Amino acid sequence: MNPSISPSTGNIGLHVCCAPCLSGTLETLRAGEGIPAPGELFFFNPNIHPLIEFRRRVKALRIYLERNRLESEIDDEYGLESWLAAMVADGGLPRNRRDRCRRCYLLRLSRAAERFKARGREAFTTTLLASREQSRELILDAGREVADRFDLEFLTADFSRARPAESELKGIYRQQYCGCVFSEAERYRHTGKHLYPPPGARANGAG
Ligand code: SF4
Repeated sequence: MNPSISPSTGNIGLHVCCAPCLSGTLETLRAGEGIPAPGELFFFNPNIHPLIEFRRRVKALRIYLERNRLESEIDDEYGLESWLAAMVADGGLPRNRRDRCRRCYLLRLSRAAERFKARGREAFTTTLLASREQSRELILDAGREVADRFDLEFLTADFSRARPAESELKGIYRQQYCGCVFSEAERYRHTGKHLYPPPGARANGAG
């Protein structure tokens, strides 16, 4: 069973994907009556590339936590290799974005669920549900699959419902793409950024 978050639910672990989504999630939880605060936060995201981008997001999270006097376990090991290994675990690269994201969600939520289970939590959820850029359907499928495997409940709610005040994230880095190198290429594929000569100059000089 995969119930929505309800007042009777306690002892939950929250997988954290980034500071902006954590902020949206906490705002939604605060706005919802009787919804308990998570007992534990855990950042695990080996899908964030390249290294400097990973560091930027970890730094943003640390600043956000510090500012709000919150605590979270942070796996700050750059996970490029383990993430790539998970991508090819079925014998080759994922066929498309959907397949890739499914594997990526499973990897991250499995690790989070493993940790929460070991620490005696009964249920878990993820700040990924605060992002309008993510596939909610795939996250829910992955969460339920992982929950079954670890005998946990996967709690679902629309964490994008309440938007945090701008001041909450003032000065905190906000990412421009989902995380992996594939999503970075998808994000910038159609821009002329750093092309030389610039696209216009190419066309003009083409004759
Ligand atoms: S686009 Fe995002 S969710 Fe999909 S594989 Fe890349 S990092 Fe993971």
